[in-house]
Amino acid sequence: MKIIIDNIECEAQKDETLLQIARRNDIHIPTLCHNDALPGLGSCRLCVVEIVDKGRRSVVASCIYPVRNEIEVYTCSDKIKNIRRNLLMLLRGRVPNDETIKKLCKEYLVPDRIKFSGDKDEHCILCGLCVKACQELGASAISTVNRGITKKVTTPYDEPSAQCIGCGSCAYVCPTDAIKIEEKDGIRNIWNKEFQLLRCTRCGKPFATKEQLEYNREKLGEAHVKLLCESCKKAIIAEKLKDIYEKV
Ligand code: SF4
Repeated sequence: MKIIIDNIECEAQKDETLLQIARRNDIHIPTLCHNDALPGLGSCRLCVVEIVDKGRRSVVASCIYPVRNEIEVYTCSDKIKNIRRNLLMLLRGRVPNDETIKKLCKEYLVPDRIKFSGDKDEHCILCGLCVKACQELGASAISTVNRGITKKVTTPYDEPSAQCIGCGSCAYVCPTDAIKIEEKDGIRNIWNKEFQLLRCTRCGKPFATKEQLEYNREKLGEAHVKLLCESCKKAIIAEKLKDIYEKV
């Protein structure tokens, strides 16, 4: 089917999200809580767009809106810009010194004056992407706790979690780099827990925790777990491909 996004005709499959279709057609829609590997969260609402469906206008979150019929979409109408501006104003109040939010505020002309301001060291926008990443992984070591201004993401009772394998996926997906991973002398520290890092057998670089590899071994089986960092895995594949091409 065809849909129109910002006056551009786009091909769409039934149930594809508006965000997927827009991105495939190089139409920019801002997001914070969206990650292609963990779709469907829809919590930050920055990806809102205006749609016209059979003459009816409404505002939807493009990352979770499945396309079922031919609609018109406006990704940056005045109404949408205004909603994003208000959302960003609230986010800036929560994380006043966060560079990602500051950059978006500049883009959406959020006024400088601010009625309230949170902790200057806070960077978490409470989107929940880290919690989802950890759940999908199967560890469920972190969750959101409390309500209102005391709401936060943490481990149970703020203690080092027995479930945490130190993989860093939560930090990797965080849109504002709010989760700190420290690595020093072969030790990784995340969520107040220390992990010994294992070294890549090819380049010697510390790359993964023992717990992470044991977890992968259990999930994927011994044959799929190699003591190799991502760069060395890629280099080995590239070398093998080169060999194949040279023989052809
Ligand atoms: S580092 Fe710990 S909390 Fe973060 S995703 Fe991995 S297991 Fe979950």
